[in-house]
Amino acid sequence: MSLFELRDVTVRFGGIVALSEVSLSVEPGQVHGVIGPNGAGKTTLFNVACGFVQPAHGTVLRNGRELGRLRPHHLPRLGMARTLQGLGLFERMSVLENVMVGADRFARTGFWSALFGLPRSARDDRALAERSMAALDRLGAAKYAELPAGGLPYPLRKRVALARALVAEPELLLLDEPASGLSAHEMDELGEVITELSGDTAVLLVEHHMDIVMSVCDMITVLDFGKVIAHGTPDEVRDDPAVLAAYLGED
Ligand code: ATP
Repeated sequence: MSLFELRDVTVRFGGIVALSEVSLSVEPGQVHGVIGPNGAGKTTLFNVACGFVQPAHGTVLRNGRELGRLRPHHLPRLGMARTLQGLGLFERMSVLENVMVGADRFARTGFWSALFGLPRSARDDRALAERSMAALDRLGAAKYAELPAGGLPYPLRKRVALARALVAEPELLLLDEPASGLSAHEMDELGEVITELSGDTAVLLVEHHMDIVMSVCDMITVLDFGKVIAHGTPDEVRDDPAVLAAYLGED
């Protein structure tokens, strides 16, 4: 039984078929990459996996169970967390507070309590802060905990967003183009981080950059014009003629 599965998923936007009968499955401990040229359907696939977009046909399964109408707010109780291209950090809040927001329990209770000035348990706060610091530490960002998130350089903000996803201790982490806007060196560092995290969580990585996908993924699904054109290990996919043809002229 797969940890997470898309089965025969089709998505249409008006007359455009963004995904056509796409299937993929993520196994425990796996880093599964989804690549493809511009317009291939990667973002749409990510949005289906997060519940932002509902497929016209097909199903999303978690541990073999059909999810029906998946919505983004269902993710925490399904043991899933995501990072988004836009990061979505609260710029004026500290790095630590941003990470604390990622814990489901806090998001449901403490965060709203904080907003509305309701009392909450100091012990819960402390435990959450410790977990959040541990997540930041794992990503090499603990020393920035007290700084406003908005003032950090972009690669560090990415790490904060990743820590926020991790603090919920997901079984599956969904990453949307995490390498975008990073230099080659920063991409290598990110690759190391993802490999290290994959000891505890499976990863579905939707990414435009071939290099990082080839270096960190166990399995890769390649999309082109909304269809799966190849699926396999990095070595299998790298030399696939259909993949080479799809990427011709791409970076
Ligand atoms: P990129 O690498 O450029 O981000 P992508 O692989 O993520 O591309 P998608 O953004 O999923 O591809 O787009 C797949 C197709 O669906 C494209 O033809 C795109 O124009 C179309 N599309 C995506 N979202 C919408 C939408 N909301 N309305 C209409 N068409 C859309």
